[in-house]
Parts: sequence; structure tokens; C-alpha cells
Amino acid sequence: MFSLQNRIALVTGAGRGIGRAIAIALAQAGAKVGITARTAAELDEVVNTIQKSGGHALAIAADLVQKDAPAKVLDQMAAKLGPVDILVNNAGIGSSSDPKPVADFNDDFWELTLLLNLTVPYKLSKAVLPAMRKHGWGRIINIASINGKMPSLHGAAYAASKHGLLGLTRTLALEVAKEGVTVNAICPGPVHTLMNDKRLEYDAKRRGITFAEVERSMTPIGGRLEPDDIAPMAVYLASTEARMVTGQAYNVCGGVLLY
Ligand code: NAP
Repeated sequence: MFSLQNRIALVTGAGRGIGRAIAIALAQAGAKVGITARTAAELDEVVNTIQKSGGHALAIAADLVQKDAPAKVLDQMAAKLGPVDILVNNAGIGSSSDPKPVADFNDDFWELTLLLNLTVPYKLSKAVLPAMRKHGWGRIINIASINGKMPSLHGAAYAASKHGLLGLTRTLALEVAKEGVTVNAICPGPVHTLMNDKRLEYDAKRRGITFAEVERSMTPIGGRLEPDDIAPMAVYLASTEARMVTGQAYNVCGGVLLY
């Protein structure tokens, strides 16, 4: 429905899960898509999938928490595809890797979560802005979470990082509003991905019920979302038609959060 012909997109964390679905959907809409994550084999699978259906994709393996990695990824994008028109900050780490109450929280895990979920989107956004401003067109889409608006029990770093990402989204949106650049966030509810599987396993154990019982009760609509339930919102926000939409944080969450 929305054409992204001649647009160049970068999707972080696109080897699997939500990022993978967004990268494929952007490519289907006509964008040339750079994808990044640490696991090269997963990136290759996504590139092959996109190419098989006639799209254009480039894999850039990188660990984004390394100091110079965001700049290096953008250098490769510029050299091989061109300047980024659409940035999707999706790579993230969940609470499930080390869930604990704040009183017992692991400081290193706190730092890592804030770095990947908040500082990396800040760095990438800052770095793509000059070219977007020059062209008078750009889209920054931050994949936050409903935990950007509500707590995550035993996941304070995750909730803090996603609340922070909404603060970044809204502030940057205002700063560039007159320049053809929009900045928005998507707040997914529980999505059937590796990250969320681990959280469900933790919650099932904590609550003394089965994985299936937790999963069934996750949303008012029922069960979890699939990555493909998130991707259409990203395509819309990336489109020219969404030019008057900025600074927003859209819930795509099966009815978990009703504001
Ligand atoms: P996922 O399946 O675990 O995928 C995460 C992606 O990020 C992978 O491609 C992973 O690849 C990449 N990544 C992780 N660490 C990285 C690093 N240091 N450098 C570069 N890439 C890295 O997770 P997901 O569920 O799709 O989550 C995607 C985003 O949606 C996250 O920001 C998450 O917070 C958000 N979200 C998810 C849910 C949910 O229920 N699943 C709900 C709300 C929001 P490598 O491991 O190969 O690096």
C-alpha cells in the first residue's frame, strides 16, 4: 500500500524477530535495506529471503555496543547503499537475560541494557540526522515497548531504557519537526520471539504455572503477537503519507495497554 521506492533503510537487530519482519516489510515496500546484528548466519538468511522476492538487502555484522560500531555501520551503509533515509532502531536486550529486583540488580547488566537500548539509538539517530536534514526528508522509528509506559517486574533496566527511548523520541521529534524528518516509536506488547520466550520461561517459573498458561493470558485479544503484527506500523511510519505524524509512541500490543 505504501511505497518506499528509492528509500534507503537501516534496521538494527534484524537477524530475527521483530527487526527481521520489519526489514522484510520495508524491502517489500521497495526500500533498499541494510540490516545489522552480531550473528552473520541470521543476517544472511534475511538477505536471502529479501533477495528471493526481488528486494535489495545488505548484511552488516556488528556488535553495536562496541564504541565505534554505530559509526562503522553507517560508513558501510553510505559506501554500499547510500545515506540512510529510514532508521529503525530495533536492536535491544530484554529483561530476561538477567531478571532481578532492583535491590539485587546486576550493575553490568544495567549498563549493557542502557547502552544497547538507549545510547545506541541516540548515537545512530544523531549520526543520520545531517544527511536527512540536507535532503529535507527522513524517518526515525524507535522500537520501544509497552514497558516504555509501564513497569517490567524484575526488569528495571529494560523499563528505564524504554521509558528513556520515548523521551529521546519525543524530544528529537520536536527538534527536527520543521525539517521533513519525523521521529516516532512503536511500543509492542509481548511478541513471539526468542527474547520474549525467555521472559515467559522466567514468568512461568516465578508464578508456578506452565509456559502455555502464561502465554494464553498475555493479552486481552489472546496469546502473543507475531513479528509480522508489528511490521506494518513501521512501513506506515516510514512512508511519505505519515509526514504529519511525529513524536508519537504507538502501542501494538493486543490490548494490554489502553492509553
Ligand atoms: P530478538 O528476537 O532477541 O532479536 C534481537 C535482535 O537484536 C537480534 O537480531 C539480535 O541479533 C540483535 N542484537 C542483540 N544484541 C545486539 C548487539 N549487541 N548488537 C547488534 N545487534 C544485537 O528480540 P525481539 O523480541 O525481536 O526484540 C526486538 C526489539 O523489540 C527490542 O528492542 C525489544 O526490546 C523490542 N520489544 C520486543 C518485545 C517482545 O515481546 N519480543 C516487546 C516489546 C519490545 P544478535 O544476537 O545476533 O546480535
